[in-house]
Amino acid sequence: MSRALFISDLHLSAGRPDTNQQFFRFLAGEAPRARALYILGDLFEYWIGDDALEQDALGLEVVRSLKRLADAGVQISLMHGNRDFLIGARFCAAAGAALLDDPRVVEIDGEPTLLMHGDTLCTDDVDYQAWRRNARSEAWQREFLARPSAARHAEIGALREKSKAVVQAKPADIMDVADAAVRAAFRAHGVARLIHGHTHRAARHALEVDGRRCERWVLPDWYGRGGYLALADGAPMLVSF
Ligand code: MN
Repeated sequence: MSRALFISDLHLSAGRPDTNQQFFRFLAGEAPRARALYILGDLFEYWIGDDALEQDALGLEVVRSLKRLADAGVQISLMHGNRDFLIGARFCAAAGAALLDDPRVVEIDGEPTLLMHGDTLCTDDVDYQAWRRNARSEAWQREFLARPSAARHAEIGALREKSKAVVQAKPADIMDVADAAVRAAFRAHGVARLIHGHTHRAARHALEVDGRRCERWVLPDWYGRGGYLALADGAPMLVSF
């Protein structure tokens, strides 16, 4: 049986040891039975750059656990989220993972499947999209990565405080995907299946795009119980722990 697993929005951090343990149990228990594991962004609560990996006990444990899984023959693919987009080649090489562009179409049991983190679908959130364009620019990243790691941690702490206040002030539907953006993605890639995370609203949505029946799977976050989407010989199943 061909089994592919999809996870996202684990938000691993030293401050949430229960979630970290849940992830390590998943990597040792469920994941080795799969052919492939796709991590669709926000594996970490935040990531300040691969050069800080050696000082990051949790990061090192994650790398070691992923590498063990890769060495056991599971193909690991990783996509950036809006919080860990500074994960780079060094992390991926150490973890035995391939970095995927966002968006990316992969064929799963013969079905072209569009994979995204999901933040680019939230087009109603204009401020966020502007911030994203800036933070994904080479200039921003070069400047950020040149700072000492303590300054990077402080900057991210400040950003998160600011974003918490902004998020609370925004209507909930602005933080969800925009229907037009979802349809545009299905059209642009010519697929009938999309899997993404980011919104933390785990669900299966059926929709019709240009007369084609399409489905959009939203992955669960791991702030609560956590879970994953499994495609077993192409049959999808959303699992909560
Ligand atoms: Mn996200």
